[in-house]
Amino acid sequence: MQVSSADSTRAVGVQRLRLVLHGAVQGVGFRPFVYRLATEMGLAGWVLNSSAGLVIEVEGSPEELERFRSRLEIERPPASLVLAREASWLPAKGYAGFRILPSDEAAEKTAAVLPDLATCPECLAEMLDPANRRYLYPFTNCTRCGPRYTIILDIPYDRPRTTMRGFSLCDDCLREYTDPADRRFHAQPNACPRCGPRLTAAVADAARELAAGRIVALKGIGGFQLLVDARNEEAVQRLRRRKRREEKPFALMMPALETVRRYCMVSETEAELLLSPAAPIVLLRPNGTPGIAPSVARSSPYLGVMLPYSPLHHLLMREFPHPIVATSGNLSDEPIAIDNEEARERLAGVADFFLMHDRPIARPCDDSVARVVRGRASIVRRARGYAPLPVRLDRDLPPLLAVGGHLKNTVAIAPGRQVILSQHVGDLDTLEARRAFERAIEDLCRLYRFEPRLLACDLHPDYASTQWALRAGLPVIAIQHHHAHAAACAAENEVREPYLGVAWDGTGYGLDGTIWGGEFFLVERGRFERVAHLRPFRLPGGEAAIREGWRSAASLRYETFGPQSLAQGPLRLMLERGLNSPWTTSVGRLFDAVAAMTGVARVNRFEGQAAMMLERAIGSLQGEEAYPLSAGDWRPLVEAIEHDLGKGEATAHIALRFHNALANWIVEVAEEAGLRDVCLSGGVFQNGYLVERAAALLEARGFRVWTHQRVPANDGGLALGQAVLAAERI
Ligand code: ZN
Ligand code: ZN
Ligand code: FE
Repeated sequence: MQVSSADSTRAVGVQRLRLVLHGAVQGVGFRPFVYRLATEMGLAGWVLNSSAGLVIEVEGSPEELERFRSRLEIERPPASLVLAREASWLPAKGYAGFRILPSDEAAEKTAAVLPDLATCPECLAEMLDPANRRYLYPFTNCTRCGPRYTIILDIPYDRPRTTMRGFSLCDDCLREYTDPADRRFHAQPNACPRCGPRLTAAVADAARELAAGRIVALKGIGGFQLLVDARNEEAVQRLRRRKRREEKPFALMMPALETVRRYCMVSETEAELLLSPAAPIVLLRPNGTPGIAPSVARSSPYLGVMLPYSPLHHLLMREFPHPIVATSGNLSDEPIAIDNEEARERLAGVADFFLMHDRPIARPCDDSVARVVRGRASIVRRARGYAPLPVRLDRDLPPLLAVGGHLKNTVAIAPGRQVILSQHVGDLDTLEARRAFERAIEDLCRLYRFEPRLLACDLHPDYASTQWALRAGLPVIAIQHHHAHAAACAAENEVREPYLGVAWDGTGYGLDGTIWGGEFFLVERGRFERVAHLRPFRLPGGEAAIREGWRSAASLRYETFGPQSLAQGPLRLMLERGLNSPWTTSVGRLFDAVAAMTGVARVNRFEGQAAMMLERAIGSLQGEEAYPLSAGDWRPLVEAIEHDLGKGEATAHIALRFHNALANWIVEVAEEAGLRDVCLSGGVFQNGYLVERAAALLEARGFRVWTHQRVPANDGGLALGQAVLAAERI
């Protein structure tokens, strides 16, 4: 490998850890404390007060940095209050010494809007104390916990500008609110049974409904959730039928960490994530313990599990201490319901029982999804608990709005040196969803007093987001889908050019009008060169082939073994004549084809299902065995698979050899490209096995591998990449 790099003198294994802390961290001696701690530990870097929170950067070995992080938590000034925090592991810059940098006094705005935070231990203890005035009160919160982003109507964040404005504080609550020594000093959603929001039904009744196998609609923090006993197969199936969600995995809520450990393997990092104030759904490996209904997650190698994060959830789990399905309150493909009336109407045919309350929700915010990849947290769906924390950049951007993709949509605004990504909006297939998309844009711009001068969108002319951008009356810069993926990964990891971007997903509009999705880009001086891609194949039936992977399988067979490998019929005719059979280089579609060939999955009932099932098929098998996939030519791979199938090879081996082939191909291209930094992005890299394998092989050869941390690898991260690239084009 020829590595062109200016930093070969740097010690191997040195990394940069950036922590961004939000809360009461200013004016409490935090910066001197950080300075003393870093200096004592001999770590170089800096600390800075900024509009985007208190930013700390330190460099050292991963072990030293982990130690720094935990000491920071334990030893920080007693008067400080850390409400939200995000960590990024970045390439080292070679800092010398530790410095306190002058504050950056730019826009104060962003610091004001914090994400919703899970119930803190003190509030929980009060709620469970019969002597406390908040005993069993489902809207208990304090300055350290409770709703924020989902109740704020306008800035600055103050009670009259939240959805709590209709509730006036009683004397006791007012005393807490105005006493600087109180835990509830200026806690905007402060409330008690006397003066605060109330439930429309009893928690015990909801628990009884769950126990009877019925479906409960619960008004949560960022919208309604549909709940059902996760141990009851018949009830789970009923929820699937009513919600019209055939097979997409459901998330679970479990009463406590011990329950999660009973059903799943939980590492220390995963436990930390489950218990964090963001309290996301964490994708975990099931440990094989029976008890969870099979139709909760038939296709996935993972179970998505979260812990109770609001007082109401805690109270419900206290009455019903078992795993429950907790999925967003909508019909498949629609946005999550947030209003009581709306929910009653839209969920009438789904829920048997409604547990609602009279605290309005300002904006929808689904549960976030995260996982641990390469030993670190990585966000798959960014919403409750994370939105709207800004992603800090190493450069200033012009005032632009990026409208994201079509599926798993998020939008982003760029006030200066940061990008604020909206919460997950969802797929833009329905009119309802497109309205939610427009509301998300208006809402974000209004909340931050942001006036975009420029729009960034996907190159795909048919995306609802692109069409909105073209109608909006502002200059528009269209960004190629996979460029945006790679740039999002590079931006959040602060990877300097040149780098190799590996962007693999299901579909994206290519520069040549074909469907891309297995792309390698050499990124240098703001320009992208497509240095490698999957050998193209036809998708007979076009859109239909995205759902029906057997069509891709037939196409690969046709190309590999000739026309006689397919029976006479419309499909063969389509391929022979090239009718309604667009070309693609998509690795996602290659996954579909292999899943169909092996009988693992003939169709996708939701995006990425076949790929998920193929990853699951590996099971616990390990090894170096791999199919040939040199230069992205899948013909030898298809031959080898057919050969293996012919001799009755176990599916686990075929799945393993296929995944390893993909990882080997990445290494092959990386070695040819000779760039030290490799960014992996796109929906395919939600495949845990593939990411771990590719990263391990690359790192063993001296490459630095960058994967997503705070922003999703899937289309939920596109808006960030669009924003960064659009800024380079003007
Ligand atoms: Zn609290
Ligand atoms: Zn009160
Ligand atoms: Fe994509």
